[in-house]
Amino acid sequence: MSESFPEVLIVGGGPAGSALGIALARRGREVVLLEQSAAAHHKVCGEFLSYEAVGYLESLGLPPRALGAVAIHGVRLHARTTIAACALPFSALSLTRFALDEALLTLALREGVEVHRGWRVESLTQTQYGWQARATGGEEHSARAVFLATGKHDLSSYRRPRGTQNNLVGFKMYFRLTVAQRQALDGWVELFLFPGGYAGLQMVEGEQTNLCLLVTREWLARCGGAWAALLAHMRGASQPLAERLDGATPLLAKPLAVSSIPYGMLPGNAADGLWRLGDQAAVIPSFAGDGMAMALHGALLSAEMYERGADAAEFAQAMRAQYCTQVQLATAISRIMVSAPAAAQAARLWPGLMGRIAARTRIPLAARKTAVPEMRHNGAGQV
Ligand SMILES: Cc1cc2nc3c(=O)[nH]c(=O)nc-3n(C[C@H](O)[C@H](O)[C@H](O)COP(=O)(O)OP(=O)(O)OC[C@H]3O[C@@H](n4cnc5c(N)ncnc54)[C@H](O)[C@@H]3O)c2cc1C
Repeated sequence: MSESFPEVLIVGGGPAGSALGIALARRGREVVLLEQSAAAHHKVCGEFLSYEAVGYLESLGLPPRALGAVAIHGVRLHARTTIAACALPFSALSLTRFALDEALLTLALREGVEVHRGWRVESLTQTQYGWQARATGGEEHSARAVFLATGKHDLSSYRRPRGTQNNLVGFKMYFRLTVAQRQALDGWVELFLFPGGYAGLQMVEGEQTNLCLLVTREWLARCGGAWAALLAHMRGASQPLAERLDGATPLLAKPLAVSSIPYGMLPGNAADGLWRLGDQAAVIPSFAGDGMAMALHGALLSAEMYERGADAAEFAQAMRAQYCTQVQLATAISRIMVSAPAAAQAARLWPGLMGRIAARTRIPLAARKTAVPEMRHNGAGQV
């Protein structure tokens, strides 16, 4: 039985799992990927692609612009009124996860990864040969190495530790804004602070606008847990947000939501031998817009380290060293944004502040260099 095992099993086909599959398949490895969704679907995400994320996707042969990504060049910060606006210290894009995640999975399939859709892994067990994954329908898959890339969803026997900011609930909704508001928003990502949380607004492909927000459980309860009341609360607290949403049409029947997000979590020691990627390894607050870049970076670095014969514990240690500063800084700022939003007025006095924060919550350049150049040699095809 052990003879016929695929070498690598990846659980989860988000950016981390798919990118790893592509990278390993291109190195000639036999890879099986299990993804619970049966088809393309929406995910709670601001859908901001930082320049590192764009670079990783291009190195994989998947330029986001070819998928319809929209350019973002600046950031505006609003509370009750507008506080500050500045150019981003890098160029960025925005693209729906509906399009991006499906394109990554399609590319993985094309590169030879054995992709199984509609497989929800319930449990992972260590065996004498490696690992065994059991799915909801009772199906089983074994492999010598397992990479856990289930993102926001924990397996019951492999729950992530808490982060340092754990009380936020995330929502995402698409709107079609009026022509005037689309023109005003074009090229910008806007952050809105309101009592109990913050929201991001930006255009994505298809003239849709993504409103993605985080609110504390306490404030959500004050709004009766109701989306309409939460939206009214945010609009009442921010004149610029009220303006943007005036006359806008919601494009989803109801918002998508996610809770129990362990913001600030960093990689543990992986002493159990399980490789953890993406949001299973570390979680940076969403306003930083770097979660996907970290997922892609970790995927490419883990492929490189696996190839060199490193183990899960060495990878976790490398990730921790590379992510620690930016995750801790971003979480400290996120806590201030939620608990003391008036502190954001500092951005009015110091216009360069937002650019500095944006620059310092990115994956360090030296770390990026270790993951990307190898990928550029692989002659990837374009989607
Ligand atoms: C509110 C919010 C806003 C955000 N905004 C941004 C942003 O603007 N820019 C940015 O870069 N990042 C953002 N992020 C972070 C970003 O979404 C994540 O960092 C990124 O998606 C992590 O990728 P991943 O592959 O680890 O996980 P995911 O994207 O969550 O993918 C995991 C995959 O695993 C599958 N899966 C889950 N459980 C199982 C199972 N048991 N069996 C099989 N398959 C399974 C899922 O279906 C999914 O496809 C945001 C996050 C939140 C919560």
